Amino acid sequence: MDENIAMFTLSYILMCSCLVFRTVFTSFLSVENLCSAILGDEMDNFVMYHIKRTCCTLFIHSSLLLVYRLGVSWIANYPLVDDGLTIFNIIGILGIVMQTSACIIIYYWWSHNWKTHPISQNLMALGENESHYLNLGWHLNIDIRSPRKEVFRCSSLVDVVVTEKWIVKVSPYSLDLAQQQDAILTVVTTDTHAMAATGTGIAQFLNIKVNCTPHRENYTFYIRINVLDFKDLQEILRKRVIIPRNVTFYRSIADQFLDVFKEHVNQNPYYLPVEEIEPCVGCYTNPANVKLVKNCFDDVNDPCGNCNCKPMWCVSCMGQWFYSRQDEGHPESWLSSKCTCPLCRSVFCILDISLLDDVPNGNQGFHFVNRLD
Ligand SMILES: [Zn+2]
Ligand SMILES: [Zn+2]
Ligand SMILES: [Zn+2]
Repeated sequence: MDENIAMFTLSYILMCSCLVFRTVFTSFLSVENLCSAILGDEMDNFVMYHIKRTCCTLFIHSSLLLVYRLGVSWIANYPLVDDGLTIFNIIGILGIVMQTSACIIIYYWWSHNWKTHPISQNLMALGENESHYLNLGWHLNIDIRSPRKEVFRCSSLVDVVVTEKWIVKVSPYSLDLAQQQDAILTVVTTDTHAMAATGTGIAQFLNIKVNCTPHRENYTFYIRINVLDFKDLQEILRKRVIIPRNVTFYRSIADQFLDVFKEHVNQNPYYLPVEEIEPCVGCYTNPANVKLVKNCFDDVNDPCGNCNCKPMWCVSCMGQWFYSRQDEGHPESWLSSKCTCPLCRSVFCILDISLLDDVPNGNQGFHFVNRLD
């Protein structure tokens, strides 16, 4: 491939990714920004704004291939039409087909006074009869202006806006809508991802099914929110989200941290206690099962100390103490940070927390009795 074409292709792919996937740094390339003169203010007429936005999105996305093909000819001086069935001819034909189809679809919506647009159709699904949808749209326009609402970012393409009366999923080509009074929200699944950017090392998402029937059966859609936003979602919803017994998830960042904390402590050397084990002084429920033992190599600037306190805490209470001493604004440093013994104030790190090995004699090789699962 010609060097000019290769360079143009690379920069075009980069530009298209910025246009399709919204990021904070490339928001100037979003459809909302590029078409702001056509779209107007979202709060003036929310429904109409999004009907126009979806049309602009469809138009722009469908023109990407054709613009690329024209760009190849313009920037790299490649002939506009090749001989035979070459890749650039195929791209050109596909581009024309996509652009024409998008224009026909948008014309179809417009010629029916937007009644056939997916957003209007979704509003109709909520109303008692078809004519009711304008009324519902009007209510939504009013409600969205209320200061009490929450916006959750589900992905780089999808947001969810929850007001006191509505749940609105904003996606590139449509809006999914539900009135809170008729909606039933159920957590369907959770998924956990390793993330280096958060101190706990994981990010967990809830996939929630929104079922809003009373008038049309099976009008459901799915929203996906970060587990840390779940509390805010519950607060603004009128009904509780249904959580089936088989679905478990972290309720807070402290919960998340505690799990990762225990995983790390579980990998440290065990301590064979010579002291009598008493209940944990933090919760009085679990027996004390950790002891601070210096296991780490000395850090010249901030060395860990030697704690001579007997085992007094369970691993959960020690984890909560460790968490409470961390800088909330810098979760990325939590696991590598230091803490001080609650009693003697000697400095320790996460490597210095040993679980108690409760096998009475130490000659049985490795002991996993106290191991956390
Ligand atoms: Zn405890
Ligand atoms: Zn101590
Ligand atoms: Zn240490």
